[in-house]
This record gives sequence, structure tokens and C-alpha cells, in this order.
Amino acid sequence: MNWMEKELALFADASNERYLRDSAVVPDNPGYTWRGNRVLLNLASNDYLGLARHPAIIDTIREALLTEGGGSGASRLVTGNRPLYGRLEEALATWQHSEAALVFANGYMANSGVIRALVGRGDVVFSDQLNHASIVDGIVLSRAEHARYRHNDMEHLKLLLNKHRDKRRKLIVTDAVFSMDGDQAHLEELVALKQEYGAMLMVDEAHSGGIYGKRGEGLCFKLGLHHDVDVHMGTFSKSFGLYGAYICGSRTLIRFLVNQARPLIYSTALPPSLVAGISTALTLVKADHWRRERLNSASQLFRSSLSDAGFNVGTGDSPIVPIIVGENERALRFSEALEAGGIAGIAIRPPTVPDGTARIRFSLSADHTPKELNDASAQICKIGLQLGVLSS
Ligand code: PMP
Repeated sequence: MNWMEKELALFADASNERYLRDSAVVPDNPGYTWRGNRVLLNLASNDYLGLARHPAIIDTIREALLTEGGGSGASRLVTGNRPLYGRLEEALATWQHSEAALVFANGYMANSGVIRALVGRGDVVFSDQLNHASIVDGIVLSRAEHARYRHNDMEHLKLLLNKHRDKRRKLIVTDAVFSMDGDQAHLEELVALKQEYGAMLMVDEAHSGGIYGKRGEGLCFKLGLHHDVDVHMGTFSKSFGLYGAYICGSRTLIRFLVNQARPLIYSTALPPSLVAGISTALTLVKADHWRRERLNSASQLFRSSLSDAGFNVGTGDSPIVPIIVGENERALRFSEALEAGGIAGIAIRPPTVPDGTARIRFSLSADHTPKELNDASAQICKIGLQLGVLSS
């Protein structure tokens, strides 16, 4: 196994080795986390709406645990399909105005399993260069051709669509909000192109579900495009504060996935108590519009204060706010200084982001108050000056 040590040494030399570190719960203080011996303002979680510790969700999970037991005991096609699943899927389909829905164990399995089910050899997938790794892995698994277009570059996509005009099946796939940049896909143009070229369109709403729309339906819904998206994917691991994922679409799509999506067929159904908790979280996501309003206005203030100070925060307008610092080493030093100053803000390095664009990715939550974010922004600017990311 010596080769592993050698490869790890290369990661370390490039300031690019990853470590697991404990992040413990701070009782009664959901916007914070324990790291080492410090309590830090948590600007590095995806609990956007602050639901992860909601008492109603915890009560539902506790009650269902007592009646349903710990695990589902089998995959859904065997004996793991408790009635709770179907009820959640009906509620999801109604929420998304779609014909049907299907729950998956997590977003990674939903993306990789669905793409593999929809396309194969002789087909082509058009995928934004900054799409999530689970989409990329789904394309690799599918054995379809991977036509990767430059980030949000619709002219490049058009060129590739023309080049692959004669392929059997065509799938365009995109994140709705990109996970490391927080910017949005050009969904209207993608819909127009999918219609022009007879392609299927799949949209991953991991970072927009719960956040956009009057009832948190997501970005496609907010833009009135939900009926034009063939495969609508979202997760329960972010705005819902839990774990799991869903696909919404036509009855035919869902019937097909029940027959062809391998992570659904060959993996044990989610614990029923968790599914019950997701149903309660869905009720809260729909009803608690104040959480979205609070999150979105805090995100705008936080982003503009960092941008006004001179940071490169990209072009997004979501609760994901990156500050792009360039080199890995610099991002690491920034993250360490943040921690010393009481803030959890994690360094994101290649291959998660392109070379030379290492960054701190801040993600906000409805748990944070304007004062906390204001103080954090001042602290971040101070560090930016110390490290020469900002000039005085
Ligand atoms: N899609 C995107 C855009 C994501 O950011 C993530 C998670 N980081 C996933 C899919 C995977 O979701 P999950 O964590 O539920 O596996």
C-alpha cells in the first residue's frame, strides 16, 4: 500500500489533503457548531431554513421510531415500502404540481441512479462544467457520451447539441443553483434549447428547493418552468434539514425509475422514522415563508457587504456566498484565521472547484441574525486585509 502514502504526500504538498474533523452540536444555539475546543458561528452548513433541530420534526421522528422501528428491513420492491413512503410521495407531487414523485436515499443516489437509468451507450448527456459530482458520476456510470459545456455558456451548449444531433437520446442536466458558486443556471434558455433539439431536461434543485417560490417549490417553479422540466430532482439534506432526496415528474418517468433506477432497486429503503420526519419538514417548508424571507434578505446583505469591501463573491444571489481567493494555501490560511476568529468557513479546493479558484464557501441559515452576520462580515474583512486578499 506504499503508493497510497506517496499519493497522500502529493496532496499534502499541494495544500490539498482532507481531514475529518468533529463538528459537534451546540445545545440551544443552532447557528453555531463546536470545533476543537471552540464554539464557532456556523457559516458552513446547508441547513438553510434552520429546520435541522425543529421540535415538531424531532417529535415526529421519535414517535415513528417507536411504532415503526429503527430500519425498514428491506428495499422498497421487497418489504421495505411502508405506507408512509407513498403518502410522502403524493404530498411531494402535489407540492410540485407534478403527476408523481419518488423518494431516494440521498441526492447522490438520485442523480447517479436516475441518469444511469435514462441514458446508455449511444446516447449523450449535455452537462454544465460546474454540475455536482453526483451528476458527473451518473454520466460515467451510464456509459453515455459526456458533452460538457462551459459554465452557463449557452452558445457552447448549442454547438454541442448541433454536433450530437443524431444521437439516440439526449439529456441536458444542470444544477439550478450551483453548489460552490451560488449562481443560477439559465433555465429559460435551457428549456428553449431542450424543445428545439428534442432533448430531455433534468434539473437538480438541491440548493434551491425550499428557498425559492411562495411555498419553497424551488427555482423552476418560481420561474414558471416546472412543467417544462422532465426530471425534477431535490434533496431533503439541505433546506429540509434531514436526509434523502426526491424526483418529481410524469407517472411514466416514475414507473420507469421504479424499474430501472438501481439505487432504488438494490438498496434498503430509508428508515421509516426519517420518512415521517421528512413529511413534517415538508409541511414546514411550505408554511414557514418567513424563513425564506429572512434567509434571502440576510444573504443579500451579507453578499453585498463582502462584495463592497472588495472580495470576489462571484455572480450569485443565493444563500451560498463564496469568496474566491485563488491558491489552495491561501484558502487554507483564510479558513484557519476564520476559525481562530470564531467562524466556521471551510476552504474549498480542487477538484471540487477548478484549479486556481480555491475559495471559502459561506452558506447562510435562517438561524443567523443580522447582527451575527454583520459581525462576521467585519471579521472576514479584517482577515482579508491581514492575508492580502483585500488591499487597504
Ligand atoms: N446535488 C447537489 C447540487 C449537491 O450540492 C449535493 C450535495 N452536496 C447533492 C446533489 C447530493 O445530495 P446528498 O447530500 O443528499 O447526497
